[in-house]
Amino acid sequence: MPVKNRFAELLPEITAWRRDLHEHPEILFDTHRTSAVVAEKLTAFGCDEVVTGIGRTGVVGVIKGKSDTSGKVIGLRADMDALPIHEQTGLDYASKTDGAMHACGHDGHTAMLLGAAQYLSETRNFDGTVVVIFQPAEEGGGGGREMCNDGMMERFGIQEVYGMHNWPGRPLGSFAIRSGPFFAATDLFDIVIEGKGGHAAKPQETVDSTVVAAQVVTALQTIASRNADPVSQIVVSVTSFETSSKAFNVIPQRVHMKGTVRTMSNENRDLAEERITALSQSIAQAYGATATVDYIRNYPVMANHEEQTAFAAEVARAVSGDCEEAPLVMGGEDFAFMLEERPGAYILVGNGDTASVHHPEYNFSDEAIPAGCSWWAEIVERRMPAA
Ligand SMILES: [Zn+2]
Ligand SMILES: [Zn+2]
Repeated sequence: MPVKNRFAELLPEITAWRRDLHEHPEILFDTHRTSAVVAEKLTAFGCDEVVTGIGRTGVVGVIKGKSDTSGKVIGLRADMDALPIHEQTGLDYASKTDGAMHACGHDGHTAMLLGAAQYLSETRNFDGTVVVIFQPAEEGGGGGREMCNDGMMERFGIQEVYGMHNWPGRPLGSFAIRSGPFFAATDLFDIVIEGKGGHAAKPQETVDSTVVAAQVVTALQTIASRNADPVSQIVVSVTSFETSSKAFNVIPQRVHMKGTVRTMSNENRDLAEERITALSQSIAQAYGATATVDYIRNYPVMANHEEQTAFAAEVARAVSGDCEEAPLVMGGEDFAFMLEERPGAYILVGNGDTASVHHPEYNFSDEAIPAGCSWWAEIVERRMPAA
């Protein structure tokens, strides 16, 4: 079965929504206009319930099927936020907000889930309840976590959750998924090396925090190469290195470093925290400096559940003829919080040969809309077949 005919008919309309969202990108939790547009459309579609303000600016819509003998409730989730990037696509519907851009395709995700919500509200050809979830702040703010913390799963009785992301480099409208750990945990660390500043020509009177910090950076590379199991996945990157002096002739008192750790298991998260702390403090101590380490557990590993993954792949094959096994992704995804609360699956849909996500020339491909919308609708109609 290819894409649903109704979505071919709705394509011009859904495309127009997508381009309007693209023109008006909003960052993190500041998705006020986007949330209002989503809530207004869900209400116009005739959703049984539309609730705003969940997870600050998140929106939830409830659509009841023709019957509810199954008692099933399925959550479908899209993200709405943009990125702090200056758009360079030259599109006639390019961002009108300086320094904000839909460079991850969340405009497309929102539009596709709206399209599916319209279709499901029209047809109601299922036995159970659908909850459409529109979350803010996927790009680092943990909007998914906030919605869960607001009690969304319990309040709407959600039993399973599904998510989707477009993927540049994959053929348009094709699907890929994997069971188990899929996207990495994205932890953060902050290290302050405190030495003793002084005149650059009198190093013997100082404790040079720059030399100590440089050795810490080098030593942190051994976590991946010498401590972690070589067949496991781990990335340790120092991404910021700031000394407390900008002068040519001053040995700085202090160096402040920041970085990220990406892992696919809690064992490696524990390992990274323990080793970053031990290496920083021991190296600092050896030179008479001190190290203060803050390890922050951010998004957890996003792990797909086996049964729902097999089902999601079956639906994808029905929609586009094939569904490949996706590779591991060391990026993060805060749908992880929803998958920690409920079983479910997250799938990739091909965006074709475009610039990669988070690039100033990236754009979501509207040609992927019929496949994406059809996958959403089929998830519902096959998981909760009409009596
Ligand atoms: Zn992104
Ligand atoms: Zn994204």
